[in-house]
Amino acid sequence: MPERRPFVRLPTDVYPVNYGLCLKPDLIDFTFEGKLEALVEVGEPGWPVDVTRMDLSEHGGVTQATNQIVMNCADIDIITASFAPQGGEEINATGFNYQNEDEKVTLSFPSSLQKGSGTLKIDFVGELNDKMKGFYRSKYTTSAGEVRYAAVTQFEATDARRAFPCWDEPAIKATFDITLIVPKDRVALSNMNVIDRKPYPEDGNLVEVKFATTPIMSTYLVAFVIGEYDYVESQSSDGVTVRVYTPVGKAEQGKFALEVATKTLPFYKDYFSVPYPLPKIDLIAIADFAAGAMENWGLVTYRETALLIDPKNSCSSSRQWVALVVGHELAHQWFGNLVTMEWWTHLWLNEGFASWIEYLCVDHCFPEYDIWTQFVSADYTRALDLDALDSSHPIEVNVGHPSEVDEIFDAISYSKGASVIRMLHNYIGDEDFRKGMNAYLLKFQHKNASTEDLWDCLEQASGKPIAAVMSSWTKQMGFPIIVVDQEQQGDDRILKISQKKFCASGPHNGEDCPSWMVPISICTSEDPKCTKLKVLLDRPETTITVSGVGPDQWIKINPGTVGFYRIQYSSSMLESLLPGVRDLSLQPVDRLGLQNDLFSLGNSRAGMISTVEVLKLMEAFVNEPNYTVWSDLSCNLGVLSSLLSHTDFHEEIQEFIRDLFTPIGLELGWDSKPGEGHLDALLRGLVLGKLGKAGHKPTLEEARRRFRDHVDGKQVLPADLRSPVYLTVLKHGDSATLDTMLKLHKQADMQEEKNRIERVLGAISAPDLIQKVLTFALSEEVRPQDTVSVIGGVAGSSKQGRKAAWKFVKDNWEELYNRYQGGFLISRLIKLSVDGFAIDKMAAEVKSFFESHPAPAAERTVQQCCENILLNAAWLKRDADDIHQYLLQRKAPPVLSCHPRRLLQPLPPSLQRGPPSIIAASAPPLSTDQSGRAERGDCLTNAFVMMLSCRALVVALLLCPVGGFLNSSEDDDNGVPEDWVLLHVVQGHIGAGNYSYLRLNHDGRIILHMQSLKGDADLYVSDKTLRPSFDTYKQAAVGHLRAGRGGGAGGLHQARGHRHLRPPVSQGERV
Ligand SMILES: [Zn+2]
Repeated sequence: MPERRPFVRLPTDVYPVNYGLCLKPDLIDFTFEGKLEALVEVGEPGWPVDVTRMDLSEHGGVTQATNQIVMNCADIDIITASFAPQGGEEINATGFNYQNEDEKVTLSFPSSLQKGSGTLKIDFVGELNDKMKGFYRSKYTTSAGEVRYAAVTQFEATDARRAFPCWDEPAIKATFDITLIVPKDRVALSNMNVIDRKPYPEDGNLVEVKFATTPIMSTYLVAFVIGEYDYVESQSSDGVTVRVYTPVGKAEQGKFALEVATKTLPFYKDYFSVPYPLPKIDLIAIADFAAGAMENWGLVTYRETALLIDPKNSCSSSRQWVALVVGHELAHQWFGNLVTMEWWTHLWLNEGFASWIEYLCVDHCFPEYDIWTQFVSADYTRALDLDALDSSHPIEVNVGHPSEVDEIFDAISYSKGASVIRMLHNYIGDEDFRKGMNAYLLKFQHKNASTEDLWDCLEQASGKPIAAVMSSWTKQMGFPIIVVDQEQQGDDRILKISQKKFCASGPHNGEDCPSWMVPISICTSEDPKCTKLKVLLDRPETTITVSGVGPDQWIKINPGTVGFYRIQYSSSMLESLLPGVRDLSLQPVDRLGLQNDLFSLGNSRAGMISTVEVLKLMEAFVNEPNYTVWSDLSCNLGVLSSLLSHTDFHEEIQEFIRDLFTPIGLELGWDSKPGEGHLDALLRGLVLGKLGKAGHKPTLEEARRRFRDHVDGKQVLPADLRSPVYLTVLKHGDSATLDTMLKLHKQADMQEEKNRIERVLGAISAPDLIQKVLTFALSEEVRPQDTVSVIGGVAGSSKQGRKAAWKFVKDNWEELYNRYQGGFLISRLIKLSVDGFAIDKMAAEVKSFFESHPAPAAERTVQQCCENILLNAAWLKRDADDIHQYLLQRKAPPVLSCHPRRLLQPLPPSLQRGPPSIIAASAPPLSTDQSGRAERGDCLTNAFVMMLSCRALVVALLLCPVGGFLNSSEDDDNGVPEDWVLLHVVQGHIGAGNYSYLRLNHDGRIILHMQSLKGDADLYVSDKTLRPSFDTYKQAAVGHLRAGRGGGAGGLHQARGHRHLRPPVSQGERV
C-alpha cells in the first residue's frame, strides 16, 4: 500500500464564528442543494477556544495575509463561492481545488482577504447517499406498502463535510443557524427548536423551516432529519421538552425511552450540577443507521432497536439496551457536547466516560437490573480480552486521517475507557469525583478540553495523584496481572504482591516490562462486601500486612472486580476461595471475576493454568443463581465450544454444557412465574438457549412444540422466549424450519423481531441452508447495517458456518466494502467472520487477503484477528488432549451401588405404618470424578426410595456425609408447586450436582425422578395412589432434612439468595 501523506490539520488563519446553512434535499432524486453563509474571522492564527494550550505547529498555518480559504469538503460540488469583508466588497473565488484524499477544498480568491470579520458564501450540491454517513437517505415503507426515503445525518467522526463545506474539526466550534426546505407533509428536525415555518415561495409543495441559533458547538454534533414520524412528548422535571420520534403509527413504542429520558435528564443535571443547556431534546429512531446511536446535540439519533420498545413484543434485554443507550447518549449532551474533546486522540474520554456513566444512570433508574454486575461481563472483561493482545493500542492514541479516527471507535475506547474510569471513580470516591467533574464542566463548557484537563480537575478535588495514576493506564497499552501469594503470621496475613504485563501470548519477560500505578483493594471472608484495605501499588512488587485475619479466613483481591487487571493467586489462596464460589458467600461480581480471570489464564498462550482446571471450576457454578455470572460463564463456554469445533470431540463439550445448565434450566422452567423480575427473564432466555443449542432433548422438544404453536397462531411466544426458541429449532432444523423462519422475518413489523431472527439464522446446520442464509444477508430483506450480524451469526455457529462465511466475505468483498465505505461495520464484519479460526495457516490466509484487499479503517482489527487465530491454534495444541481426556472421564459409567446403612435416620414412628420396604434404591452416583475416587463413597450421595407398606408412602432420603444435603421446599413459600418435593443433592467437592424430585402425579401416583450426569430418569413410579397422605409425607421429609442438615454444613445452599431448584410444571407430564 502506498504510504499515506502526513496528516495536516486545517490552517488557522480563517475560522468560522457562525454558519448560516440552508439545505434543500430532494427525497426522490437523492440530491440536495445547499447554501452556506458563514460569518468568519480572517487574521492571525486564532481559535475560538483557548489557543494557548494547542500545539499550532500541527496546523498548516499561514501567518501572512491570505488569499485562500481551506475547508473540509467531501463528495460535494461547489458551484459558487464568494467572500465579503464586513462593510467591504464581495469577491468571487476563482478556483476550487479539491484535495480528495484529504477531504479538503481550497478556495482561491483573486486578492488577499481583508483581516477581520467577513462573510463566506458558498452554493453547492451533494448527493443523499446510501452509505449511512454524512447526509444520507434512509428507506422505510409506509403502511400502504409504498417505499419512501427520509433524509438524515450521521456526522461523527468526520462526515459533516459530506453535507456542507466546513471546518470539520471538533475544536473549531461555531454557532449554527439552520434552515431546511422540505416537502410540507414531512417532519423536519434539527438540533434546536423551530422558530419559523412558512411556505417556500418557489414551490407550493415545500415549506421553509427555520431553527433557533445553536450554542457554540462542534460540526460533528450538527444534525437534521426530514421524514415521516410520529412522536410522544413529555417534560422533564426541570422543564426540558422531551420528544421521542418513531415510525408512523408506532408512537406507543417511544414511551419507554421517553420515560427513561425524562428521568435521566434531571439525574445528570443533579450529578453534574449543570443544567441541560438546550430548550428541547428529541430522540429519533432511524431505519438505516450504522452505529447504535449518535448524541447530536438536542437531536439524538438511534437505530430503531436502540429506542423502540413494544410492551408485548420487546424482550427484557431490549428494554435494558434501550435504557443504557439512552443513558449513554444523554450523558454526552454534557460530556462531549458541552465540553468537547480537543482532538480525536481524546475520543476515549468522551466514549469511556459515557460508557461508564450510562450504567450509573441505569442503576439509578432501574436498580432491579443489577447493572453494575452486568458491566463487568459486558465491558470490563471484553476490554481485558482485547487489551491482552500484542496488537492492542493505548487508550490515548494519536490519530489524524479520517480512517484512523474511524478505527478507534473500538472496545478499547469504549469498554477499557469505561473500565478505567470506573476504577478511577472507585479510587477517588463519589463525592470528590463529582466535585472534580463539576469543576471540569464549568471550566470548559462551550470549549474543548483534553484528558489532562480532566485529571487536573479531579486531582484538585481529591488531592490524589490522578494524572500520575491515570497516565499509566491511558498512555500505555495493556494491563498488569497481579501475582499474589500469602503467608500466615499469627493473626496477620502477609501478602506478597507483584505486577507484570499480562499478555495473551505469554507473560512479559522482557527487560523493560511496563508497570502501572495500580489501586489495589482487599477484602476477607469476614465481610466479602467490604474493602478491608486499600493500597496503591506503584512499583513492581510489594509486601502488605493484613492484620486481624485468622488462618481459616480467605482473602480476595479486587473485591467488586473494579481494578483493571487480572489476578493470579497462589494455589492455596485460590483453593481457599473456591468454597466462597460454591456457598455463594463471594459476591456475584467476584464469582464472575474469579471465573473470568481463570478462563483467561487458561486460554492464554502461556497456559498459566490448564483449561481442565477451568472446567472443574465451572462445574462449581452448578448452583449459581445470578444471571450475569451465568452469562459470563456461558460466553466463555461458547468460546471453548467454538474452539473445540475444530476437534472430533465437540459433542463432549456439548454434553458438558448440557450437564452444567440442566439444573438451572429445570429450576427456571419455561414460563415466568408470579413475582419474577427482569433478571429472571434474562436468565431463562440464556439458559434455555444454551440448552437448546447444546442439544438438550427435553428443551429441544419443548422448543419445537412451542414454536409450532407460535407459528400456527395458537400460542404466541412471549418475547423473552423467542430468541432461545428460534435458536434451538434452527440449530436442529431443516429447510422447512428455515423457510418458516424467513417467513416470520418477512411478516415481522418490528425491527427488533427481524433482528432477533437475523441473528440466529446462522445456526442452521446443513451446508446448502447455510448458503441460503448468507445470500439472504445481502438481500433487500436485510437492512444494510444488519447484514453484518447475519454473516457473523453464520460464522459463529459452527465449523461449516465459519468456513462458508469467510468464503462469502471474500467472494463478496467489493460489495460489502462498498456498502460500508470502510466504516466500523467493516471492522465488525471482519472480526465476526475470522476471529474463530484456530489453524495457523488461516492467520496467514487472512493476512494475505487483506494485503490485497486493503481496508484502512480495519487494519488493526485484521492484526488482532490474526493474532487471535494463532492464539486459538496454540491453545488447541496445548490443551485439546487434556480437555478430551477430562470430558471422557466424567462420562464414565457409575461404579457405586447404594449404601442402605447410610440412611440418616429411621422414619418417625408416626409414619411407620407397617414395615418399611426399600424398593427403588439405586440412584446414580453424583461424582464426575471417576479416577478411582469413587472409592470415597463418603463424598458421593445416593438417594433411596422407601416405600412404606401398602400406603404407598414414598420418602426419599438422602445421604451426603461430606457436603451435600437434602433440600426440600420447606422454606420456599411460593416456589415449588404443591405436589412437588424436591430433593436437591450436591456434592462436597467441585463437580456437577444431581437432582431428584418426588412428584405426586395428577392421578395420585408418586414418581421419583432423578437427574444426573447420565441423563434424566424416572426411577420409580408407585402403583398406588397417595393423595390423602401427601402432606403427612411432606412434613416427615422436611423433618428429616432438618435433622440431617446439621453438622454436614458445607452445603451449597446456606447462603442468602439461594433459590430452590424445581422442575418445571409444564414438563411434569413427561412422566
Ligand atoms: Zn458515545
